[in-house]
Amino acid sequence: MAQRLNLVVSRHFSKLTSLSSTRKLSENVSSKPKTASGSEITADHLLYTPEHFALKESLKKIIDQDINPYVDQWEAEGIFPAHKVFKLLGNAGFLGVNKPVEYGGLGLDFSYSIAVSEELGNIRCGGIPMAIGVQTDMATPALARFGSTELKKEFLMPSIMGDKVACLGVSEVGAGSDVATIKTNAVREGDEYVVNGGKMWTTNGTQADWMCLLANTSDGPSHKNKSLICLPMNSPGVHIARKIDKMGMRSSDTAEVFFDDVRVPCKNLIGQEGMGFTYQMLQFQEERLWACGNILTMMDNIIQETIQYTRQRKIFKMPVLYHQSVHFRLAELETEIELLRSLLHRSTALYIKGNDVTKLASMAKLKAGRLSREVGDSCLQYWGGMGFTSDVLVSRFYRDARLLSIGGGADEVMLSIICKYMDTLPKK
Ligand SMILES: Cc1cc2nc3c(=O)[nH]c(=O)nc-3n(C[C@H](O)[C@H](O)[C@H](O)COP(=O)(O)OP(=O)(O)OC[C@H]3O[C@@H](n4cnc5c(N)ncnc54)[C@H](O)[C@@H]3O)c2cc1C
Repeated sequence: MAQRLNLVVSRHFSKLTSLSSTRKLSENVSSKPKTASGSEITADHLLYTPEHFALKESLKKIIDQDINPYVDQWEAEGIFPAHKVFKLLGNAGFLGVNKPVEYGGLGLDFSYSIAVSEELGNIRCGGIPMAIGVQTDMATPALARFGSTELKKEFLMPSIMGDKVACLGVSEVGAGSDVATIKTNAVREGDEYVVNGGKMWTTNGTQADWMCLLANTSDGPSHKNKSLICLPMNSPGVHIARKIDKMGMRSSDTAEVFFDDVRVPCKNLIGQEGMGFTYQMLQFQEERLWACGNILTMMDNIIQETIQYTRQRKIFKMPVLYHQSVHFRLAELETEIELLRSLLHRSTALYIKGNDVTKLASMAKLKAGRLSREVGDSCLQYWGGMGFTSDVLVSRFYRDARLLSIGGGADEVMLSIICKYMDTLPKK
């Protein structure tokens, strides 16, 4: 393990001669905050050190060489080879940058996860970054934080190494926004749970080796009767009912899954029984910040490609871009993107220092969803008929980014959380 870590670190940070260990990197982040902002500024960045940028650069190479050339094919096929892509990323250390070193992670702090999420935004679709994000920052944070050593060896370590694909089972046919009302039960029988019910919208679901399952483990109040359980997807009684056909995120497989008397050892419980809802709410914070980082780069890329296209496309004797309504609108959107980036980086800086950033993370997720819809809609407009074809990134972005206002907590759910923190939500 130490050998692999050294390999990973030296591969990522070979240019940085002062580096002696990854632990030192993470200390750098919290002890030396920088003072500038803006994606293009690298020397005096508010959050990112040269080590963050080295990590991003190294990931960019994998994206350019091993992922982007195949994206169109995987989008057309409606699935991407998760085991193959995750093994590639796992070998290079990208599936566990903020996970413990003893389980194969790089032991860095969450700001490095955000740096990775931003870099993954350079993949030319939303589906593959989302699938990677499920593996790194949606299905595994609770396991890493609260799971037993045995459980982490069985599920976390191979997920970090890219040997196992993870999925997250929270949403159900009858319960999405209102997580408390899920119906899947895990009933104790001896030293096993017997799981019955089903999950809906499970990203990676047709390919996953295990699910981080949220299930009811008692009849108590809905916020205290739930547990997170590592459920092997090859267990007898797990049925993949279908792969859902979607308007966007097409290269990511989304499954509906049924559980019919699925027996799972009780030792697969993550942390304490009855704490699942709380763990999942914590896990959601990282998911929401991650999603925000990811969409920022995609929005940057869409704006840049729109500038390039509209600069060369002439209408009424001048480039589309030179019409004031066009370049002013792009400037407005760019301003909003920078505001969102500042909010994300501030939230992340507070989070790695141990603060509760639920309110800021919810604001960032809300704004990311809404802004990406505006960016997609405005930019697509400036591409004219070309924007309506499947040949250009902007139309894929328009379809893919629409999910952000729905998945991982809809805009209205974010608004409710923000209102709770503002103490403006009417009491029931
Ligand atoms: C492509 C895709 C991938 C997904 N991946 C996963 C996954 O891997 N794991 C997983 O567990 N789930 C996943 N989801 C599920 C996703 O998180 C849910 O779709 C989302 O939480 C919304 O739930 P719902 O679809 O049941 O909508 P509903 O709960 O039925 O809500 C419908 C609408 O009601 C509105 N609404 C919600 N709350 C309020 C409110 N308080 N006031 C007013 N209006 C409100 C919102 O506009 C919302 O869109 C995925 C979904 C999709 C589409």
